[in-house]
Order: sequence, then structure tokens, then C-alpha cells
Amino acid sequence: MSETATENVVIIGSGPAGLTAAIYTARANLQPLVIEGETIGTDQPGGQLMTTTEVENFPGFVDGIMGPELMAAMRAQAIRFGARFVTKRAHSVDLVSAPKRIVYDDGEVTTRAVIIATGAKALMLGLENERRLLGYGVSTCATCDGFFFRGRDIVVVGGGDSAIEEAIFLTKFGDSVTVVHRRKELRASKIMQDRAFANPKIRFVWDSVVTEVLGETKVEGVQVRDIVTGETSTVPAAAVFVAIGHAPTTELFAEQVDLDANGYIVTREGTATNVDGVFACGDAVDHVYRQAITAAGTGCMAAIDAERWLEATGQA
Ligand code: NAP
Repeated sequence: MSETATENVVIIGSGPAGLTAAIYTARANLQPLVIEGETIGTDQPGGQLMTTTEVENFPGFVDGIMGPELMAAMRAQAIRFGARFVTKRAHSVDLVSAPKRIVYDDGEVTTRAVIIATGAKALMLGLENERRLLGYGVSTCATCDGFFFRGRDIVVVGGGDSAIEEAIFLTKFGDSVTVVHRRKELRASKIMQDRAFANPKIRFVWDSVVTEVLGETKVEGVQVRDIVTGETSTVPAAAVFVAIGHAPTTELFAEQVDLDANGYIVTREGTATNVDGVFACGDAVDHVYRQAITAAGTGCMAAIDAERWLEATGQA
């Protein structure tokens, strides 16, 4: 492993939060190093927007922009101001020592400050067509994609607050919303259940699991199996919103940084964690809003917090 100079700030993660932190720290002359991850399974540099097609709600793009194009532009903007990138996944960290140490596949880096922006993953059903049709009718974000299915039939999978919230939201667009849930009772809060049951556009398929997403180039429906009777049926739909929960990508930090009961990083006074010089932003912290623009906003905050910490501790 090669010995290199200690960095001012290393950013782990390269979604909207990490890349915004990179732009801001680069423009503050901190020469940030971004450990951007690598394509393994469903993970990829650029984060969740890399598997999205059209993004119409990111301010500044009147006609919308493709998710990967937006991420490529953010990355190029960070590079323009001097950010450097390592296309590896960090696999161990020592955040408590000074300097802090981050180890990836064939190298390691030491740094004064760290910004964690490792995001979260929407949990998926694990079906063959689900990943292939992501962005072509399969979605994990109703706020992002509901608009594209105006006047169409929509399926939502799940029975928690997210699924029911998405189902209710999607009735603004869809002709019908069918919630497929694996049990006979919802996990969602009573108030959400009451709203959903009172909504004439929502119907429920109980005790059922989605066994396949149908369609070649775009979603045409789902195949559903009733787990009590074993019967299989087809629900025609133009979109499937998978809302079975999210998991933050924070395992790497669990021993050192305070996490809440669901694994999200706990921050205080802006983006500070419990570890001095370690800041966190984006979906690794946020289980409420989960939008590209809110992730970018907290990435900016983390950059400013890190810069001020380096100054206050006489390290910049
Ligand atoms: P969640 O509460 O964990 O619910 C996940 C749902 O997906 C459950 O109904 C679960 O079924 C189902 N599910 C899980 N894995 C599945 C699989 N492989 N196949 C089929 N179904 C599967 O997740 P969430 O709805 O995202 O909510 C997360 C947290 O955020 C919760 O605490 C929730 O209250 C909160 N939240 C609050 C609001 C709000 O207050 N407005 C909105 C969104 C989320 P089972 O029920 O059978 O386990």
C-alpha cells in the first residue's frame, strides 16, 4: 500500500449528497477526495439516480433531465474545481484516530475530516424483471415518478406507511391503484389505513405476493400469487411502485458512529456525528424526505460544517 499525504477531507459516497459536498469543499480549496464506490450488484457510483430515467423535479431543469446525466454533470462540476475520485468501495474505516483512515480494495487514505454520504437502498423484491424495468415502469419513488402514469393503472407493493402513503399520492395520477400486500392486515398507521380504505381509487389484493413483473420494454402488469390458495393471477398495470422499506448503507460505520434503531446515522448541530471531524449527509441520515434535492442540500451543509471544523481546529 502506498503512503500518501493526509487529505483535508474524504467524502465517502457519490450520490447528490456526496457530489454536492465535493463541489463545495473543492470550491473551498480543500481538494476533496471522493471514494465514489464501484458497480457491484445494484450498487453504483452516482447512487440511486443512476437507475432512474427522467428527473423532472430537480430545480433548474425546465424540461427534466435523465438521472445518469444529472449525476455525470455533478461529477464533472466537482472535478472542474479540483475534486479527485477513487472508483472503489471503502471496506473498513478508522474514524476515531487522528488522522482518520479509510481502506478500500487496493489502497488506503488518511484524512483530517470525513463526510459520509453513502445513501440508502430501496429494498426490492428480487424478481428477474424488476431490475431490468427499473425506470421503465418499476419505481421506488412515487414523488419522483407518479406524474408519468397519469390516467394509467398502477400497482403498489407493501403494507407499511410508505406503501400506503405512495398509494394515496398515486391516486392523484392513476386511474386505479392496486396495493398488493403479503398479509391480510396493513402495517401502516391507523390514520393512513382509514384514508386508503376511504379512497375509491385504491383496491387491495390481500395475502398475495408479486411473483413477476410483466413486460418486455416497459411494465405491462404483475403476476401475483395468493399465498393462502396458491392461485396465480395477473394484474394489468403500467407501473409498479415497490414500497417495502429502505435500508441505509451504514454498516461500515456501525462500530464508530451513532446510528438510530433503523441504522440511520444520527446527526446534531447540522451534519456533525458523535465523532469529531466526521459529518454525515443525504439518505444515510434522512429517512423522511429522501429526495435528490434534499440530499444535495445536506451535502452542502456537510461541506460547510467540515470546512468550519478544519478551520476551528487549526487544520486548514
Ligand atoms: P416498513 O414499515 O418496514 O413496511 C414494509 C412493508 O413492506 C411491510 O408491510 C412488509 O410486510 C412489506 N414487505 C417487506 N418485505 C417484503 C417483501 N419481500 N415482499 C413483500 N412485502 C414486503 O417500511 P416503510 O413503510 O418504508 O416505513 C419505514 C418507517 O418509516 C416506518 O417506521 C414507518 O412508520 C415510517 N414512515 C412513516 C410515514 C408517515 O408517517 N407519513 C411515511 C412513510 C414511512 P409485513 O407488514 O408483512 O412485514
